[in-house]
Amino acid sequence: LPPAPVTALQEQDVAGLLPRPAAESDKYRRGVVGVAAGSARYPGAAVLAVAGALRGGAGAVRYAGTAAEEVVRRFPEVLVTEGTPGGAGRVQAWVVGPGGGEGAGAALAEALASDVPVLVDADGLTELARLGPDALRDRTAPTVLTPHAGEAARLLAGALGGPPPPADAAAAARLATARRLAAAYRATVLLKGSTTVVADPGGGVRVNATGTPWLATAGSGDVLSGLTGSLLAAGLAPLDAASVGAYLHGMAGRDAAERRTPITAMEVAEHVRF
Ligand code: AMP
Ligand code: MG
Repeated sequence: LPPAPVTALQEQDVAGLLPRPAAESDKYRRGVVGVAAGSARYPGAAVLAVAGALRGGAGAVRYAGTAAEEVVRRFPEVLVTEGTPGGAGRVQAWVVGPGGGEGAGAALAEALASDVPVLVDADGLTELARLGPDALRDRTAPTVLTPHAGEAARLLAGALGGPPPPADAAAAARLATARRLAAAYRATVLLKGSTTVVADPGGGVRVNATGTPWLATAGSGDVLSGLTGSLLAAGLAPLDAASVGAYLHGMAGRDAAERRTPITAMEVAEHVRF
């Protein structure tokens, strides 16, 4: 039998999954999300990933990296350390890689050595593609990968050997690619594009069609990473966190574009709501 057609996520699919503080919640129970992102060359990616994380529903955001000064100047509510994930305090999920540059490898290794969910994006994915699926073999907690088409092609090459296949952006091909990556890396894969597909190693798939082509702008993926990582820290299962993250990010892009176009990545973060 061919796989059943996958319908795009609707409002009622995500409504029951959104993290809302209970009457007796405190910030720790809501979850602390760690963001290891940014570098001397790309401090802005750290600021954008943190902006997304602050809007994702975790109770606190912890930042570890070289852009601590930029991050705390823009967001005084963030707990910052000028170090790597291994030296930072306890978190319920890590986001690793946006703008990570040279430091991405060390940050990735330390985050992967933790026993909490880890979301890997951007330079973290480049590093992971180099290492291949073996780098995730000893993980005891879930891993979420958020590639765009080019990053997905590199990850496939890292799993299969040989040069990266041409990045195929067609929607049907994207679903197959996400499934293959999820199986090869035993991770939840959120494959970005005009529609976003999510596949998990258990065979679950989701498709998100909220969003707007105006989201094709620098930094927009960094916001998605922080947002989705925050949902992981709040306790959502990986498939739920990834698909709800894509849904909210797309809605925020639409809302921002309704107010004014073109939109910026920071405006996307500012329009996240639930
Ligand atoms: P990145 O490539 O990491 O900057 O991420 C780009 C973000 O923008 C992802 O969330 C994509 O799904 C979204 N995006 C890019 N192009 C489009 C498009 N043509 N239509 C809708 N969303 C898009
Ligand atoms: Mg990106």
